[in-house]
Amino acid sequence: MANLNNEFPSPIEFFLEIPLYGSFEVEPNSELIKEIENFKGSIDAFCLNCKKPSTFKKMVGINEPILGHLSKSIKDKKILANAKNQNPLLIRWQESNLNNRIFNVNFSCARDNSHRMHFCFKVCEGTIQKIGQYPSIADLNMTEIGKYRNVLGETKYKEFSRAIGLVSHKIGIGSFVYLRRIFENLVEEAHQEAKKTDAWDEEFYNSSRVNEKIGLLKDILPESLVKNTIIYSILSKGIHELSEEDCLNHFSSLKKGIEIILDEKLEKLKKEAKIKETEKSLSEIKSKLK
Ligand SMILES: [Zn+2]
Repeated sequence: MANLNNEFPSPIEFFLEIPLYGSFEVEPNSELIKEIENFKGSIDAFCLNCKKPSTFKKMVGINEPILGHLSKSIKDKKILANAKNQNPLLIRWQESNLNNRIFNVNFSCARDNSHRMHFCFKVCEGTIQKIGQYPSIADLNMTEIGKYRNVLGETKYKEFSRAIGLVSHKIGIGSFVYLRRIFENLVEEAHQEAKKTDAWDEEFYNSSRVNEKIGLLKDILPESLVKNTIIYSILSKGIHELSEEDCLNHFSSLKKGIEIILDEKLEKLKKEAKIKETEKSLSEIKSKLK
């Protein structure tokens, strides 16, 4: 989903971002499938057991197809039983075995081998689909966005979670509504702060378009929001014009865009808390020295 051009997803996108049952056309013996099936790298993801981000390594030895053939009929078994080496029927059976199959890819957490992630794929009739995974995309994302709870506040945090939940159920346009509300809320927070300043022209603000409003609030808003007003444009376009599939394909990029804005706010909060704490301890030392 991270790719905006509906290209064939990378293995990591397939594992962590593509919702279940999304079907992609591909030749059954294509390198693209082999890259997923024989994935060599590691993946960074939130470990539900460690309750923090971790690196997951592919597990070797338990990745064999759990079902080599989608319909292992009695006829197939007879072919196998009667076939000798080089028997054309056996070759054809093996080919169909390879073309239509289900395979698993399993990962374990670098901190603890018993913390696992499992993904199940189905290759059938020139397509590949992810048909199962543990943990769910919603769980992986939900835990990861936990850090934004304070920055967002309870209501908006729930809406962010809902957007992710909807996408994992393949509801794209609906998820855009929630993302747009979060974006609008960030702008509104800055607006409320700006209203407190003397020079603020409320009437002018209210008669401005969203992009102009963001310009008026640029000194208060996170820099990443001011620089990426395109997020708002895409979200609005999604709600009014884009297809369900387009919204699903673009969701991951927009979510990341919003996360960058939230990261900036989070950093600011942390810095402010640190300054406050340091000032307090310094003044305590000062009073003791008197
Ligand atoms: Zn772990």
